[in-house]
Amino acid sequence: MRIIAITNQKGGVGKTTTAINLGAALAALKHKVLIVDLDPQGNASTGLGIDQSRRERTTYDLLMDDAALDDVCQTTDVEYLWIAPATTDLSSTDVELGQRDNRVFRLKEALNDAAQSFDFVLIDCPPSLSLLTVNALVAAHAALVPLQAEFFALEGLSQLMLTIREVRETANPKLRIEGVVLTMHDTRNNLSRQVEDDTRSTLGDLVFKTMVPRNVRLSEAPSFAMPVIAYDPASKGSQAYVSLARELLARQQATLEGV
Ligand code: ADP
Ligand code: MG
Repeated sequence: MRIIAITNQKGGVGKTTTAINLGAALAALKHKVLIVDLDPQGNASTGLGIDQSRRERTTYDLLMDDAALDDVCQTTDVEYLWIAPATTDLSSTDVELGQRDNRVFRLKEALNDAAQSFDFVLIDCPPSLSLLTVNALVAAHAALVPLQAEFFALEGLSQLMLTIREVRETANPKLRIEGVVLTMHDTRNNLSRQVEDDTRSTLGDLVFKTMVPRNVRLSEAPSFAMPVIAYDPASKGSQAYVSLARELLARQQATLEGV
């Protein structure tokens, strides 16, 4: 079982889109996937069709130690894909957990049992480097960073890297960077290509070969409460996330074999 935190403190870069669609692509390849919605906005929960009325037990209860993982996980319409939903309650965890001494280990402890039920846990992080994101990085084996192919994309990255280093030095020495995935890429756009070149020359092999193109099907799918692979499997967006899933699996295989 692998826990991957999908994180970038910038909003609107494709974290939630990646969590849902990478998760669904891994599920289509018959891996059991749990998406943990760790954003108070609950976009991943909505995008997978979990209405507010069905969010009785949420990741807030999980972090507050008021519910077990089993009680929080819900099935989705996608086979092999589960979700631990979020509500706006989550926005008070920073304050509520603030004084407790194990506050950065809450999610890690809550996910202890996940190995029995899932092959992958994908954590959809909020757009901040808050205690929620730190909980995700402490619980995770690796961080996956979506980077929007636009000007300034690399700017926020150094702060995220500092946070990752801090988490490594304090609470999770084995935390790896799974990779950086370029999102909303447009090959016809000079700026997009420039950002790609800069990112690849700065970060090298950390950058996934797969890029997610700007594709309207990806932005439409959540309003039908479906991952894109169900909404329009032939779309460029769907193909990109299947390719990203395969690349991720191949990288893991290579790591396992010590290549
Ligand atoms: P984040 O979770 O990082 O805030 P989202 O995944 O919610 O970002 O994406 C922000 C917005 O951009 C959403 O409306 C989403 O539908 C849209 N979007 C994300 N990725 C793409 C893409 N590759 N092509 C087109 N629209 C996208
Ligand atoms: Mg989001």
